[in-house]
Amino acid sequence: MTEFKVIDPATEQVVERVAPASAEETDAAVERAGRAFEGWRSVAPGDRARLLRAFAAMVDAHAEELAALEVRNAGHPLGQARWEAGNLRDVLEYYAGAPERACGRQIPVAGGLDVTFAEPLGVVGVIVPWNFPMPIMGWGLAPALAAGNTVIVKPAELTPLTALRVGELALEAGLPEGVVQVLPGAGPVAGRRLVDHPGVAKIVFTGSTRVGKEIMAACAPGVKRLTLELGGKSSNIVFADADLERAAATAPYAVFDNAGQDCCARSRILVQRPVYDRFLELLEPAVRGLRVGDPGDAKTEMGPLISAAHRERVASYVPDGAPVAFRGPAPGGPGFWFPPTVLATPGFAALPAWNEEVFGPVVTVAPFEDEDDAVRLANDTVYGLSGSIWTRDLGRGLRMARAVEAGNLSVNSHSSVRYWTPFGGFKQSGLGRELGPDALDAFTDVKNVFIATEE
Ligand code: NAD
Repeated sequence: MTEFKVIDPATEQVVERVAPASAEETDAAVERAGRAFEGWRSVAPGDRARLLRAFAAMVDAHAEELAALEVRNAGHPLGQARWEAGNLRDVLEYYAGAPERACGRQIPVAGGLDVTFAEPLGVVGVIVPWNFPMPIMGWGLAPALAAGNTVIVKPAELTPLTALRVGELALEAGLPEGVVQVLPGAGPVAGRRLVDHPGVAKIVFTGSTRVGKEIMAACAPGVKRLTLELGGKSSNIVFADADLERAAATAPYAVFDNAGQDCCARSRILVQRPVYDRFLELLEPAVRGLRVGDPGDAKTEMGPLISAAHRERVASYVPDGAPVAFRGPAPGGPGFWFPPTVLATPGFAALPAWNEEVFGPVVTVAPFEDEDDAVRLANDTVYGLSGSIWTRDLGRGLRMARAVEAGNLSVNSHSSVRYWTPFGGFKQSGLGRELGPDALDAFTDVKNVFIATEE
């Protein structure tokens, strides 16, 4: 099969060529993972914890190298790429605490003892998108390993480099052969083979809702376990009583971080009508002042889009005549650059950017009248991943947080992801939860055992 060209999106230069795994190579990896499972599941909890801590330490020791790789492969600004490598380390470290705490229950019954065990599933396939290669890989990999499963990671075609390096680091840290494998390959070939293979017990898929639905259907015949993290169309809701300066200063980062290629991007800003004009006045300098450029510069805030094809797709959301209020900067020359773009629709227009996931630096700002109106607009989407609510009224903040149909909401903040709190989507944004204290539940099946004590 022809090699993938890995391209630096900031320079359009070829960084590396990677041979994609065929269906047969995928089958061989599943067999290796199946054999490794028998050993890995019986590693004593304390030893499994120690190996995961060693893996985390190995990632930490190579964090700069991994960050530099992501700068070149994904065009992520260096500061962000460092955070991503740190997130992978932290998630491994956090779930290293799990093997020794994977307690079952003892349930009172007559005539005996009833206990539960959380049994590992077997081989887990983790299919990763290109937007956050390291963190998203880690959110599946770390709890799956901690629970006693073996893992095959299938990185996105465009961004395999950090995953490949992390696979090597797992071995260097002492994890047995076959416990972690990284299989670069085409989604419809290697990815689909993992989904269809009877030797794979569970799929963790993060990516588009379209492919997620296909995978869900393909998992049905084998009743294969599945976690889905899909698209988003999240709102940033600003009430008239909010700290407008802070809300406006932070809004660009809530949508333009990672050049908008973020499933949690708050790509709709809803502003209560009395402060709508004032909010736009405050937002403009914040957007124009964004540092967009060389991802290798630690001060850069936004880099390029991932590919030429993706830039074309994003540009289609800003056609001639679109209601562009203002735009931020973008370098000229080579690289898949796209300026941060604010569309403002005071009257309300049926823009595709209003309802569809743009996955680029384009935000729509629209007014609302009251709480009910804000809830109606925020929920006017098939997605339900995240969102922000800005108000000084705590009661309203809580009412809104309960009414918006999304898995991850923040009040007077834009945080979405902490590795020790649950993350996932309502509606077509996904199925199941990742991260947080309960993540091992998604990688185990509960077994109930009754032992009779009566003679
Ligand atoms: P994508 O669906 O095209 O691809 C994601 C992964 O699936 C890639 O590794 C790809 O090779 C693989 N794949 C493609 N077709 C496949 C098939 N038929 N069978 C098995 N695997 C297949 O998505 P993308 O363009 O890489 O990523 C962008 C999307 O990911 C956006 O919609 C974004 O919202 C979503 N996303 C969601 C979250 C979340 O946590 N909810 C996080 C990040 C990204």
